[in-house]
Order: sequence, then C-alpha cells, then structure tokens
Amino acid sequence: MILVLMGPPGSGKGTQGARISEELGIPRIATGDTLREMAAAGTPLGLKAKEYSSKGLLVPDEIVVGLIKERIGAEDCRKGFILDGFPRTVGQAEALDAMLHAAGRKIDRVVNFEVPEEEVVRRLSGRRVCTQCGATYHIEFVPPRVEGICDACGGTLVQRADDAPEAVRRRLVEYEQKTAPVLRYYEGKGNLVHVDASPDPDTIFGRVRELIREGSVVRAE
Ligand code: AMP
Repeated sequence: MILVLMGPPGSGKGTQGARISEELGIPRIATGDTLREMAAAGTPLGLKAKEYSSKGLLVPDEIVVGLIKERIGAEDCRKGFILDGFPRTVGQAEALDAMLHAAGRKIDRVVNFEVPEEEVVRRLSGRRVCTQCGATYHIEFVPPRVEGICDACGGTLVQRADDAPEAVRRRLVEYEQKTAPVLRYYEGKGNLVHVDASPDPDTIFGRVRELIREGSVVRAE
C-alpha cells in the first residue's frame, strides 16, 4: 500500500499519518520531520533547507526528491509506505511517479485533508512542540498539564519558527501556488479522495480507515 497524504499545513495529516502507519505496519515518511532532524544535526543540506523552511518557503525540489528517493528504496518500505508532506509541487509529483514506475510500483491512494483556512491559522498559531521528544500540543485544544512543559518528558515546549504568523501566511501562499496544482495533477489520474479534516481526530481516522480498505481492493490506474 502506497499512500500520499495531502492537505494544507495544520490539516492534521501528520497525526493521521502516524495512526495509519501503526494500523498498517508501514512507515510514515514526513519530509518536514526529516528536514528538521537534518537541520538540528547541523548537516549542510539540513542547514540549507532551514534557510527556506524557517521563512515558510518550500525547500527546492532537488533536495527533497533526493531524500525521498533514498528513503523509499529502504528495506522497511518494501511492503509500502505513507508519504506525509511530499509531493508538494508538480515537479515532485512527476519525480515520484518516475521513481515508482522504475520500481514497478504505483500510488494506491492520495488522501487530501480539507480544512478551512481560518481553522488552519488557529491550529498552527496555537501549536507547541517539545524540544526534546517532539511531542505536539495546542495551547487551546491539547494543552500540556503545566504551561510550557512537556507532559511526556518534562522538556521545554516552543513554537516552531514556521508557525509564527508571518511564516504561516507564507506557507499558505506557497500551498495555494505550488501544492494545490498537485491535487489537480492527481485528480487527472483518478486516485484522489477527499476527507473533511475539521472534526476530531478519531472521527477523521474512522473515515480514513474506510478509504484505505477500499484502496486495498480498488486500485486506481
Ligand atoms: P511540514 O512539517 O510538513 O509542515 O514541513 C515543514 C517545512 O519543511 C515546509 O514548510 C517546507 O519548508 C519544508 N518541506 C517539507 N516537505 C517539503 C517538500 N515536499 N517540498 C519542499 N519543502 C518541504
């Protein structure tokens, strides 16, 4: 099963991706997480990527395409994988198709998480992440027991640089200009499904589960 999760930043695709990964026993590959890890480790590529992502801009295609190519060829991806946050441009989608085609594989489902823009802004501006273990909170919806402190590990909670208001605005513009066309690209291929990402995570997961089950029998060309 090869799944692609799409949707604007803050649509909850990361949360759903983690649950689907557990359910199906296949890895979730999140380019945003990988890029942040590389930046934190101080690798040249990671630091270059950070120049873009901290401003809310997309990282150049050649960087992310290279990462994905290496990652999906790994042993743990043989049964399948979930792409979360890739592809984000039509160029990336074409590169992915070429990689999969060369390996005799194809995407089973593209799941698009739909959520209104004002909700996205609310979710992102309230998001806080643990600097130690990466756990995610929301000051309004999922507050930690003690303000600013991670429930799980006691680490400090911070706002991601790209969740600051100006960066959020840029990310939404990038999404409209560069990522929305990817949806049209997949629409033309017939394997795109839409999910209302406004309700609570359990309700959304129930719907996603149905779509995955359908996806395992109906394989769109
Ligand atoms: P995310 O954690 O998915 O919201 O990604 C955080 C940031 O990483 C994005 O705003 C981009 O700067 C960068 N990024 C993640 N995935 C991609 C991608 N597929 N193409 C370009 N930039 C990406």
